[in-house]
Amino acid sequence: MEVEGVAGGRKNTGTPKAIINSKFGSNASYVVEEVVQHVQDVCTEVSVPGLSVPGLSIPKKVHIMYRCRLELPEFSVVSGTFRKKKDAEQDAAQQAVDKLGIHPSIGKPTWEESLEELVSRISYLFSDKFLGTRHPMTGHLRATLRREGDHCGSFPISVITACDVKVNSLCKKIDPKVESNPSLALSFIKVAASKLSGSLSSPDEKLWIKRLNPYPHDIIESPIDQESCPPEVATVHALYIPSVMEEPVEPISFDVLPSVYYMDIIAQKLRMASASELLISRPTGKVSSETKLYYAAPEMYWSEASSSLQLAESCKDSLNVRASYLCDQDIYGNAILAAVDYTWKSKELSVEDISMQSYYRMLINKTPAGAYKLSRGAVITAALPSVFTTKTNWRGLLPRDILNTFCRQYGLAEPSFKSGSTCQCEVKVSCELAGPSKKLKTMISENATGQASAGFSTSIIKESVESESTYQCEVKILSKTQEVILVCSPKESFKRQNDCIQTVALRVLSWLNMYFLGIEPEKLNTSAEALDITFNPERFHEEFRFGPSIHGYQQRDIQEVINKKSQVDIEGQGSGISPTSGSLARITYSVSLVPADGHTKELLESADEFEFEMGTGAVISHLEVAIAQMSVGQSACFSIDIPDQEQILAASDDFTRINSLLNSYHCRLEYSVKLLHITELLEDKMEQAFFSPTLSKQRVEFAVDRIRQSDATSLIDFGCGSGSLLDSLLDYATGLEKIVGVDISVKSLIHAAKVLHSKLSKDSGTIRSAVLYDGSITVLDSRLCGFDMGTCLEVIEHMEEEQAHMFGDIVLGSFRPKTMIISTPNYEYNVILQGSSAGNQEENVHEKSQAGEHPFKFRNHDHKFEWTRQQFESWATKIATKHHYWVQFSGVGGSGDVEPGFASQIAVFTMEPPSPSTPSRTGDSPVSSTEEVTDSCKVVWEWNSSN
Ligand code: SAH
Ligand code: MG
Repeated sequence: MEVEGVAGGRKNTGTPKAIINSKFGSNASYVVEEVVQHVQDVCTEVSVPGLSVPGLSIPKKVHIMYRCRLELPEFSVVSGTFRKKKDAEQDAAQQAVDKLGIHPSIGKPTWEESLEELVSRISYLFSDKFLGTRHPMTGHLRATLRREGDHCGSFPISVITACDVKVNSLCKKIDPKVESNPSLALSFIKVAASKLSGSLSSPDEKLWIKRLNPYPHDIIESPIDQESCPPEVATVHALYIPSVMEEPVEPISFDVLPSVYYMDIIAQKLRMASASELLISRPTGKVSSETKLYYAAPEMYWSEASSSLQLAESCKDSLNVRASYLCDQDIYGNAILAAVDYTWKSKELSVEDISMQSYYRMLINKTPAGAYKLSRGAVITAALPSVFTTKTNWRGLLPRDILNTFCRQYGLAEPSFKSGSTCQCEVKVSCELAGPSKKLKTMISENATGQASAGFSTSIIKESVESESTYQCEVKILSKTQEVILVCSPKESFKRQNDCIQTVALRVLSWLNMYFLGIEPEKLNTSAEALDITFNPERFHEEFRFGPSIHGYQQRDIQEVINKKSQVDIEGQGSGISPTSGSLARITYSVSLVPADGHTKELLESADEFEFEMGTGAVISHLEVAIAQMSVGQSACFSIDIPDQEQILAASDDFTRINSLLNSYHCRLEYSVKLLHITELLEDKMEQAFFSPTLSKQRVEFAVDRIRQSDATSLIDFGCGSGSLLDSLLDYATGLEKIVGVDISVKSLIHAAKVLHSKLSKDSGTIRSAVLYDGSITVLDSRLCGFDMGTCLEVIEHMEEEQAHMFGDIVLGSFRPKTMIISTPNYEYNVILQGSSAGNQEENVHEKSQAGEHPFKFRNHDHKFEWTRQQFESWATKIATKHHYWVQFSGVGGSGDVEPGFASQIAVFTMEPPSPSTPSRTGDSPVSSTEEVTDSCKVVWEWNSSN
């Protein structure tokens, strides 16, 4: 296999595999085998079975691991087991390297050795044997053999570098400068060919190689040849890119007959005598891998082959700036951009059309296979977001990967990310493999689950990440020679390491975008500062020589565009629900080009379903501003000034027509959109994004502190959900002996049961009994009465307000815990959580409050209400007075002293000591004391330390 160099040559030099490869070549063979591992062997995260899973069993997880045996002529080694094949291979290679006692630097071949290897490679490429293999170069070989006259059999050297990865990597080994100056490789190949003068001829000043002895006839007519159906005429659509900027880029097309060498036709189009002096750029990497530029070797190219650096000076005038920009390599003279080549699979040509549309897409870096997925179909609508929020909301390649791709395209080193936590991060992984347990009783009613299940007999594995740490990250963009070009080092710290890395990558990308879109140098410097970016101007401009000047693309000042508010006409009966920052808006849209004088409009771009995250700049600002004012079901129409010609041309598939419209009339873009759906940012996601530790963790900590300060021995958690509080409690030393949880969600209770069971059976501390009840906390049940401590965190807002009032009465009037902690969101704080969507918020609030109701959305679609501080305090004070409790207000997240108060508001009720003057309390109870109380809750799970 010749392909190994693709990734191997560039990236893996110095890796154990590369060392083994340079030493043994094809004499080293890697055999990878799969090793199956069951969950018993590994610790993995728990998978919570849905209620429909029979018997609540957790399916066994199987992991495929890999082991590799490396066989060398003298011995073989076996690697350890790894998740990834390539790790196993590297491990095996490392073992072999160790065994051989190779010091890495010894593995590096010398200049002479590499040249020798190059000579033998070239010799092989012109051998009988090679013509019989499948390789893109063999298609060229055969085609050159079909040429008429003198040119028959003369093979363009540039095709060797374009087709053979191995030759390329050998040339790079001879001189790393080949990376930045690919023409240097041609001279090395010529040197190699001259050492093979017995079998190859390559006259001085010629850019071709010819085999001296003809190929045996049967090899030319090899079976591979006959296998494929007779080749057909191929029509190539390509672009002609003149080096004179004033001359326009033009589409050209030509037919390639089976009897003709396509390179000759391209040469002809460039007014050259033959393909022999035709050069091929490296892949532009911006459309498909076959998209390359073809151009004539500059005159006197060979007279001083080795000093091609001087060449750059002498040919400066004919530098083709537009072509050079596309492949980030110096291209001289007129050029043709085409995607055509022989493939590995057959000798037939594979052709891809290159249109003006592709050209403009390449210019603005929004190619169909481009990195940022949103932009693939939405050329004029999508934009690179300015912030990274959550992975789930992101579409396509992550910013870090986009940046890596970018650096690879520009021949830079892999960007170096350095991230660290600002304090120690503790990761706790507890792993328990339990058989059927005596202590664990599940009593799940038939109707709740659809089937009865008695006892878990599954392994319970819980992984919890306890982390108080925050992360900071820095990224460096380095040249191939490891010189620092740019550093981005935000001062902010992030809750999660990944967010931090992605954000820093995004900042660099946004800034590079500004550069490539032609922002003024002054603004570029200011924005660098704002983004915490510092760059080395000299190195930067050296690496990105072919920047914005090429297409005179001038990005509009975004602020200016926003200020010129466009009139948005919203139609239709909406649902009243509008998307806010962080939520995903799904729209259907179309954009048309509208010429001013009533000419018919031209559709440019449309999508039936297009989803993007609000508040991140993932689409053009007009659209985002419009969508923020709409509610689900509504449609809107607005028109804007055209952003710039390139974008319009990149979106259009009819270049001639659109271009003439743009040049003849004043045009505007008309958007027609409908908001189809909103996916809310989940409450806990939002909390995670804004608070560290998370708000839910802060609530739990608040409760745990109060419990520890008290001498409570019994605790009841009303609306315990998945047991987050009960679970966390068990991590602390408290005086609690009895813990109880109540909830109406059986699914959550099952989760809670597993977690608690796992923890308690390991170390129950002081706890002697634990019970989980399925039941509503607004219904009386004697078993919920008389606890030392009651908690009810973020539950009341999940009930109708009326129910919440009822719960207030029941809990303080009937259940009567000595201390009761109740938390609920502070509605006023939503301005902080949702109001970060830039400047349009004020207007937004105003409009909605005019429409009555709430300017802000609730934090969770399941919330029936969210109270202001005043509403909550009035509710709490009323029930406290009524049932003889003292109440204190507090909260978590933010500060109580600063507007708008805490994010979560908390009331702590303490039972007043009984006094003779206190009237009988039973009278306050909503349920008459004479009425017989039937216990309404069902036990879902029960645990006792004694049995
Ligand atoms: N206290 C938990 C869960 C909060 S989510 C925590 O802080 O993590 C709200 C919970 O209230 C849900 O689990 C829901 O099932 C529960 N809930 C809502 N109405 C209820 C009712 N009437 N009785 C009992 N639980 C209820
Ligand atoms: Mg809630």
